Amino acid sequence: MIAPDLDTAVAELSEMIAEAEAILPFTGAGISTECGIPDFRSPGGLWTKNRPIPFDEFLASQDMRDESWRRRFAIDATFGAARPGRGHSALASLYRSGKVPAVVTQNIDNLHQASGIAPQDVVELHGNTTYALCLECERRYELEWIKEQFDANGQHAPDCTCGGFIKTATVSFGQSMPAAAMQRAEDLTKRCDLFLAVGSSLVVWPAAGFPLMAKRNGASLVIINRDPTEFDEIADLVVRHDIGDVLGPFIQH
Ligand SMILES: [Zn+2]
Repeated sequence: MIAPDLDTAVAELSEMIAEAEAILPFTGAGISTECGIPDFRSPGGLWTKNRPIPFDEFLASQDMRDESWRRRFAIDATFGAARPGRGHSALASLYRSGKVPAVVTQNIDNLHQASGIAPQDVVELHGNTTYALCLECERRYELEWIKEQFDANGQHAPDCTCGGFIKTATVSFGQSMPAAAMQRAEDLTKRCDLFLAVGSSLVVWPAAGFPLMAKRNGASLVIINRDPTEFDEIADLVVRHDIGDVLGPFIQH
C-alpha cells in the first residue's frame, strides 16, 4: 500500500518494526539531503554539471588525479560540516535496540558512522569519501594531509610511499564493486525479515537487486522515498513523505 498520509505511514511502519526481528536498512542519497549533502546524481546535481572522472582516466594521468583531488577539496566544506539527520538517528536507535544488525548504504558521507553505528556494521557499496586509500597497498590517508601535500607540491596529488596512487576511498565509475561489501549486503538481505529502503531511487546497480532478493526470501519490503521507484508495486508499504518526518518518531535518546 501507498501510505495516504504521514500519520498512517508512521503507524504502519511502527507496527512492522515492532513485529520484525531483523531489519535491514538500505539507504541512499535521500537520507542525507537534510544534512546538506546534495544528491550528486539528481537533475541539477554536481554530476550533471561536472562529469565524474572515470577510474581508468584517474589511473592514466597525473592531470586527472590532480583534477579529481581539486574537486574533492572544493566540496570538503559540505562534507566536513554535515551532521547526521533524523533518518540516521532513527536507524542508530533501532541499531542500539538490537533490531538492526547492520546498515547497507550507497552513500559515501560517513553519516551512519557519525550517528553511532559501529564502522564494521556500516556496509558501504560505494565506499567512503571522508578518507583516502592507496590503490596498491591500501594504506589509509587523511584528507588534511593530502591537502597539505597538494598545496606544497604546486597543486599536484601526492603518491603513497609505496609508489601507488592515493584516491578517496570511494568506488569510481569503472572501478569494480567492493566484493566483500557486496557479499555482506547479500547475506544481510537474505537474513532480514524487514527490508527498509530509505532515500534510494533503487535504479543504480547494484541497488536494484536487493529489494527483490529480500522479497524472494520472504521479507517484508518498505520503501521510503520522495519519488516513486520501480519496486513500489511489490512493496508492502510505500511512503513518499519526507524521510526525516517519517523516521523522526523512531529516534530514542
Ligand atoms: Zn601504498
